[in-house]
Amino acid sequence: MAKRVGGRRPAAKRRGGVPPGARKATRKAAAIGKMIYAFGGRRTDGRAALRDLLGGKGANLAEMARLGMPVPPGFTITTEVCAHVTEHDDYPPGLQAEIERQLARIETAMGRRFGDPDNPLLLSVRSGARASMPGMMDTVLNLGLNPQSVQGLIRTSGNPRFAYDCYRRFVQMFGDVVLGLRPEGTDEVDPFEALIEACKQARGVTRDSDLGADDLRHLADDFKRLVRQRVGRVFPDDPMQQLRLAIGAVFGSWKNARAASYRRLHAIPDHWGTAVNVQAMVFGNLGDDSATGVAFTRNPANGARGIYGEFLANAQGEDVVAGIRTPQQISRASAEARGADMGMSAAERRHRFPSLEESMPARYKELVRFARTLERHYRDMQDLEFTIERGRLWMLQTRTGKRTTAAALKMAVDMAGEKLIDRRTAVLRVQPKDLDQLLHPQLDRSGKPPLLAKGLPASPGAVSGEVVFSAEDAVAAAAEGRKTILVRIETSPEDIEGMHVAQGILTARGGMTSHAAVVARGMGTCCVAGCGELQIDYAAQRFSVGGRSVARGERITLDGGTGEVFLGVVPTETRQLGKDFGTFMKWADGFRRLQVRANADTPGDAAVALHFGAEGIGLCRTEHMFFQPDRIEAVREMILATTLAERQRALAKLLPMQKGDFLGILRTMAGLPVTIRLLDPPLHEFLPNTDAELAGIAADLGVAVATLRKVRDSLHEANPMLGHRGCRLAITYPEIYAMQVRAIVEATCELRREGVRVHPEIMIPLVATARELEVLRAEVVAAARDASARYTRTLQPPIGTMIELPRAALRAADIAQFADFFSFGTNDLTQTTFGLSRDDAGRFLSTYVMRGLLPVDPFVSLDQEGVGELIRLGVERGRSTHKALKVGICGEHGGDPESIAFCHRVGLDYVSCSPFRVPIARLAAAHAALRTDGVGGARASD
Ligand code: ADP
Ligand code: MG
Ligand code: MG
Repeated sequence: MAKRVGGRRPAAKRRGGVPPGARKATRKAAAIGKMIYAFGGRRTDGRAALRDLLGGKGANLAEMARLGMPVPPGFTITTEVCAHVTEHDDYPPGLQAEIERQLARIETAMGRRFGDPDNPLLLSVRSGARASMPGMMDTVLNLGLNPQSVQGLIRTSGNPRFAYDCYRRFVQMFGDVVLGLRPEGTDEVDPFEALIEACKQARGVTRDSDLGADDLRHLADDFKRLVRQRVGRVFPDDPMQQLRLAIGAVFGSWKNARAASYRRLHAIPDHWGTAVNVQAMVFGNLGDDSATGVAFTRNPANGARGIYGEFLANAQGEDVVAGIRTPQQISRASAEARGADMGMSAAERRHRFPSLEESMPARYKELVRFARTLERHYRDMQDLEFTIERGRLWMLQTRTGKRTTAAALKMAVDMAGEKLIDRRTAVLRVQPKDLDQLLHPQLDRSGKPPLLAKGLPASPGAVSGEVVFSAEDAVAAAAEGRKTILVRIETSPEDIEGMHVAQGILTARGGMTSHAAVVARGMGTCCVAGCGELQIDYAAQRFSVGGRSVARGERITLDGGTGEVFLGVVPTETRQLGKDFGTFMKWADGFRRLQVRANADTPGDAAVALHFGAEGIGLCRTEHMFFQPDRIEAVREMILATTLAERQRALAKLLPMQKGDFLGILRTMAGLPVTIRLLDPPLHEFLPNTDAELAGIAADLGVAVATLRKVRDSLHEANPMLGHRGCRLAITYPEIYAMQVRAIVEATCELRREGVRVHPEIMIPLVATARELEVLRAEVVAAARDASARYTRTLQPPIGTMIELPRAALRAADIAQFADFFSFGTNDLTQTTFGLSRDDAGRFLSTYVMRGLLPVDPFVSLDQEGVGELIRLGVERGRSTHKALKVGICGEHGGDPESIAFCHRVGLDYVSCSPFRVPIARLAAAHAALRTDGVGGARASD
């Protein structure tokens, strides 16, 4: 009983007890509150703000009615009722009577009666949850038809073909959705569609529209018979019973597998429930002055201003998204562009695919006006559904439209320019991690790749993978780390998990608003839709196009920005970022407080980082320079040296090379800080493995191979990551850091002499105790003084340390006395705090995440509770003894939006991440500031 009010009392439920009095309280219908909200016609109870109670669809239908738009009258049964019905498998008391009262209101408004054999009112029963779940829940259209009322529909419409078309659609949808004729998740051909195909073959026609009234009447009868055979139940003819069953089925569909899967993927709580909308039908299938369509108030693929969408004349409901017929464009400009793409002459295009603007100019104007009003009202791009019945426009749905990142960015910038939203809102409209989509590479066409086919550019990106024909195959391949392109005739909600893991999606049918296109854009997955030339044979697991056949497992490449499909793997190149990107990022920068630096070891990486807006280098690893083939020998000599003289000789060889490295990177980063970390990794990483290598070095050093082998073996460590590495090396071999410091200082002095402004910072890794840093700092200072002596001024770069051991975080107050800055090395800090090896944890960490023991992989997103607590402590204690201490982070986490928000909250000065993630970090830092502090900095208000 306690559960009836949805998830509001989970605590009581978990304790297993029904709170005293709950039984009595929940018995009363009043405990649910108002169960039904009317919209359209003369009365509208709901509004957009009641989304939780009415679901998105119901709340927005009410809002449109309030704005004076033509919405077919109807009513919404609340999500609270859903919770009741889910719990009790029955209507709450009083609901049926209220439904009947509401029906009477619709009947009056429409001048028709539900179930009337002469002039029947037909209804649609539509689900609508709080969060938009496209295609997840089911809808029944034309409800109320039976052998008697269909006669009435014939008389009132004067169109028997139309009436039987409605009837067969109704039986089909009701059979599917309510009676469960087609079990979920099977790949079996829809038995209804099979009957339609058979009928067309018998009549020798190819299109549904060629079927006549009699054909459709027979089909409706065949459908009913099929239902009886398959589900062992007579198809209900009583309209009120139809309605009751349909409402129950919509509530029930909240629990179906694909809705549950969508909720899992989008983190929608199970207890929210869905609302049910019952609404008078309007008919887009009444002839050529009727139509149905979907429209976006701006282009969802690229963000261009102006209405964008598709429609079908003489069609109903899902026909547009189902991809059975090729839809027409709403605006003339996009119709012309499509025609040109398809190689059609202007005249042919106008004849075969006229736009709504051309075929029904008055309705087009009205639709554009509504689109503008809605966009201004909701202050965001809207995704609309509409139907035109005999020249009259009806609005059936509005919701905030899904969009690509490129479109989101352009819309944000444009809408701020139009004063529709402020800059703060604009910056929050793009999710940091989605920027990845923009930084995606594009196809490199210089090799003239072989074009296989061209479809619609449904969702951008450039991807290659092996062809699979089912969602299951995509999932299986992904589990083995293989990249796939999911190829389907059209996609449906059953394919959702496969779509999620595939690199790209290719469909033969459907337009820019088809299921595949909408879902792919939402996921940021590359998609080419409606590639009509493709002949897909699921049974043979191959498709053919233009005389070519491509089998499962063969590789293809998609360009989701152009709709092109290529055979084989086409290489990619990085794209140019447009002007809007620059504007948007500038606004974001105005709001953030955290600085963003990059981790870069070479002048090339540094240049990329600069291009993406890095404000310095937060981590320049010197050892990467040591691995190059021309240097490794000198490095090995240094390691294997048995005397100080030998080691100094080797180091002298390395000095000019290191200095060259620093000259390059410091020059690239002129004017900005560059944090250079002195040698960190365990020496064994550099050791020679083969006897030949050993012999070569022995000859160079002039020692016996056997001696050298002994030295090498003595350096062996059981646990190198916890061994002789980082500052511990410098404690035993001070001359290594001395050489590195000399290289840094000489490079700096020489560049300064040239007039280049350079700001090196020296970072000492793996410090555990304050004494380590005290000793090493003194040595670095001395080495810097020595090295700069032969230049005019003495140079003293800032000296700081990595905080990557728990002891260092705990003793930060002592350590900070010898540090100008801290940089949290969260890769090692995570490793050492959890006591797990980063190189081996992959094998079992995923199980931890899967079984819910950890929310995410702590090497990907910072463990804010544990590792985060050490960071918090480290910052606090460090600043307690050294007020001006500069603090940053340089682990992988520096590019992860959640971790960045944490860094903002604990008061770090900067984050540092890989160059390609710099824009993500900049935006994440802005979001963190806007979300945590409410308002942005002063810079943003100009
Ligand atoms: P979804 O959430 O999957 O879009 P909808 O409830 O919006 O499902 O409805 C599916 C289709 O049926 C849409 O194309 C819609 O336009 C159409 N439809 C819904 N209600 C009506 C109605 N009252 N009259 C005509 N068409 C309708
Ligand atoms: Mg809809
Ligand atoms: Mg480290």
